[in-house]
Amino acid sequence: MTSSTATATDGYHVAVEALKLNGIETIYGVVGIPVTDIARVAQAEGLRYIGFRHESDAGHAAAAAGFLTKKPGICLTVSAPGFLNGLVALANATTNCFPMVQISGSSERHIVDLQRGDYEELDQLAAARPYTKAAFRVNRVQDIGLAVARAVRIASSGRPGGVYLDIPAAVLGDVMDADQARASLRTVVDAAPDQVPSPAAIDRAVELLAGAERPLVVLGKGAAYARADDAIRAFVENTGIPFLPMSMAKGLLPDGHPQSAATARSLALRNADVVLLVGARLNWLLGHGESPQWSADVKFIQVDIDPNELDSNAPIAAPLLGDIGSVMAELAQRTREITAPSSWRDQLAARSARNTAAMAKRLGEQTHPMRFHGALRALRDVLRDRPEVYVVNEGANALDLARNVIDMTVPRHRLDSGTWGVMGIGMGYAIAAAVESGDPVVAIEGDSAFGFSGMELETICRYWLPVVVVVLNNGGVYRGDGANPASTDPSPTTLMPTARHDRLITAFGGVGYHASTPEQLEAALRKALASRGPSLIDCVIDPTDGTESGHLTHLNPVGIGHRA
Ligand code: ADP
Repeated sequence: MTSSTATATDGYHVAVEALKLNGIETIYGVVGIPVTDIARVAQAEGLRYIGFRHESDAGHAAAAAGFLTKKPGICLTVSAPGFLNGLVALANATTNCFPMVQISGSSERHIVDLQRGDYEELDQLAAARPYTKAAFRVNRVQDIGLAVARAVRIASSGRPGGVYLDIPAAVLGDVMDADQARASLRTVVDAAPDQVPSPAAIDRAVELLAGAERPLVVLGKGAAYARADDAIRAFVENTGIPFLPMSMAKGLLPDGHPQSAATARSLALRNADVVLLVGARLNWLLGHGESPQWSADVKFIQVDIDPNELDSNAPIAAPLLGDIGSVMAELAQRTREITAPSSWRDQLAARSARNTAAMAKRLGEQTHPMRFHGALRALRDVLRDRPEVYVVNEGANALDLARNVIDMTVPRHRLDSGTWGVMGIGMGYAIAAAVESGDPVVAIEGDSAFGFSGMELETICRYWLPVVVVVLNNGGVYRGDGANPASTDPSPTTLMPTARHDRLITAFGGVGYHASTPEQLEAALRKALASRGPSLIDCVIDPTDGTESGHLTHLNPVGIGHRA
C-alpha cells in the first residue's frame, strides 16, 4: 500500500486499495468535498476515474458497467445533494438487477445526527436504505476493507443490485498504520457463487416442456447478464422452441434467427401454453402474466435466482431456482426429451412474415419531412453492417420504434430504459459502454430524453469517446405540434421547435451533423462511426409524428379534464 509516509496511510488510500483488491478498474463519479482525493488516489494507483457533470449520469454509467462486466460498477458522490442525485441511479440499478456500489462522502456525524446544521447535512444512510439491497456506514478507517468486501459480495451475489456505502469525511481523512491497514483488507472469493437447481425441479420443468403444444422461451436481461449464451443457444436450437427476447436480451440469439418470435410477439404470448421464463420477470412489461396478453391457462416455468420473484404475479407451475448458467446447462442436457411441434413454429413464422412485410412497407415510405420510420431505416441500414456497435436507446416513440426496427446480433450490446421505463440513462449508459468495451456506441435518443443527460456531451468529448448521439428531434415530449388551448405559454409537451442539438457538441470540440432526410442521416452516421470520435446527429423529424407516451398511451388516466 502506498502512503504519504513509510508507515502511515489514510482512508482515501485504504478505500482505493480495497476496491483494487476486488477487481475494480474504473470509478464513475463527480468529485467535491470530501471525496476528491479518492479520485486522485485512484488515478495514482492505476484505476480509471471518469468524471461526470451530474451524479445521476455517473451513477447510470456505473450501473451499466455492472450489467456489462458482471462486476459492481462504482459511483463516487459528494454529500447530501450529490448523494441524492446518485441515489436515483442506485435505485434504478437495484430495480434492473444490476450490480452497483455508490460510495458517498458525508458530513460530520456529530453535527448531522444532532441536526445542528452542517455543510450538506443529510442522514444519507437512512435515505439510501429503502432503495438499495443494503446500505452501510463506515465509522472507522480500519473497517473500510470489510465494508467494501461486503458491498461487492451483496451487489454481485443472488439477485444483483445496488449497495450504498457511506464514508464520513472524518473517516476518509483518518490516518492509520499502513501494515495494519493492509491486514484489514479483504478480497471476496467467488462473488456470485453458482446455485445449482434441484434435480426434481429440472424434471418438473422438462415434463411440462415435453408435453407442450405451443411452448415459448422468453429471454430477459437477467439471461443476458448471466453470460450463459452457449447453454441458452444449445437449449433453444436443440428443442426448436420459439424464443422472444426482452429488449435488453436482444442479440443473445440474433434477431434474425429463424426461431425468433419477436415479430409475432402478441400471437406468441396469447397462444403459448407452456412458457420458460429465463431471467425475465412477469412484471408490467409482460402484462403480469395475465389474460388478455396471455392465454388464461398458460403454464409458466421460471428460471430465477431470487425465490421471492416466484409467484409474485401469475402462478409458477415449475420454479427453477438457481443461477441461469447452471439451470440452462442442466436443461441443455435434456433437449432430446423436448421438441416444439412444427405446426406452432409454422403459425408463428406465417405471422412473422406478414408483420415483417407490413414493417418493410412503413420503413420504405419516402416522406418529407422525415418521419421516425424513415430515420430508423437509415440507422438500421448502417448498424446492420456494424454488429460490434453498442446501441443505447431511450425516449417514448424513439424507444418503442427503434426497439422493433434495430436488430441486434451480439449479446449485451443493447442498453435501454429498462424496468422503470426511465428517461435520463442515455449519456451515462453510452459513456460506460464506450469506456468498458472500447467499441463504438450509438445512442438513439428522443429529443426530450436526451435533455436529461445532455451536458455529458462534454464528458464524452473530454475523454474523446467513440459515441455517436442520434437525436430524433420532433420538437417535443412525444410530438412537437402541441398547440396550447389553455395559455400563451408553450404547451406542456412542446420543446424548442427548431432546436439544433448538433451545435451543442461543437462547443466541446465534437462533430455535429444535421440530417433532414434518411440519406443524409445514413451518410452522417457512417462518417461519424468511421471517425471513432464524439459526434451528434440532429435528425429533423416531422413534429406531427409521435404518439403520446409511445406504446404506453393506455397508462395515462383519462380524467374529466381536457388532454391536449
Ligand atoms: P426483463 O426486463 O428483460 O424482462 P427483468 O429485469 O425483469 O428482465 O428480470 C431479470 C431477472 O433475472 C430478475 O428476476 C433477476 O432476479 C434474474 N437474474 C439476474 N441474474 C440472474 C442469474 N445469474 N441467474 C438467475 N437469475 C438471474
